[in-house]
Amino acid sequence: MFADLHIHSALSACADDDMTPNNILNMAVIKGLDVIAICDHNSCKQQPAIAKAAQDKPIQVVFGVEVTSSEEVHVLCYFKHLADCMEFDKWLKTVLMPIDNNEKFFGKQLIYDENDEVVDKVSVCLSLATSASLKEVIDKANACCGRCVFAHAISKSHGVIRQLGFIPEDIAISGIEVTDQKHTIELIKTHPRFENTLFFFNSDAHQLIDINERDFYITSKQWKDFWGEHT
Ligand SMILES: [Zn+2]
Ligand SMILES: [Zn+2]
Repeated sequence: MFADLHIHSALSACADDDMTPNNILNMAVIKGLDVIAICDHNSCKQQPAIAKAAQDKPIQVVFGVEVTSSEEVHVLCYFKHLADCMEFDKWLKTVLMPIDNNEKFFGKQLIYDENDEVVDKVSVCLSLATSASLKEVIDKANACCGRCVFAHAISKSHGVIRQLGFIPEDIAISGIEVTDQKHTIELIKTHPRFENTLFFFNSDAHQLIDINERDFYITSKQWKDFWGEHT
């Protein structure tokens, strides 16, 4: 199936305001994708509306969030079930920095309903690092039946390699997102333990036009292996 498992909605301050649930889903359908995940920074508040909006659309949705750990590393956490995702969100709220969002500086953090109407906004700043370590984030997501993937591991700031210079050994990571096929080879060369790990080629889209075309394909076996016992 063709996938894009890293798209930001308008809840992410840095994303366009027209990144609404229906606009994203419709664009993904037009682009011929089979599965998407909308992963906003440090909040799952947009996920329930996405679940509702996706109900009558020919596309599968996985629930997700892009968490910034205390080391300033971006981790994508995925959940098959909305309830698990919202359970994780309850915990996530407790590790957010208690600082209000400066809309003029960072941008708005809008929550839309399933009809693309703005119904709320998040007041606490979601653009900052949480107080949870990388290991704490990943352990908690796994405990909520989630799966974790290092976001843009090599090429962008807040990628684990750019941020730490290495990948810690004691963490239960299930996948690695890269932006270029040659990064996969590079990473396996330096970290042979990831030879059988699923590599993700997502868009990290902050505007509709940037959502993946049909270029990142996951086989059903890879998808099944990724989720393991969490079906
Ligand atoms: Zn990121
Ligand atoms: Zn992102």
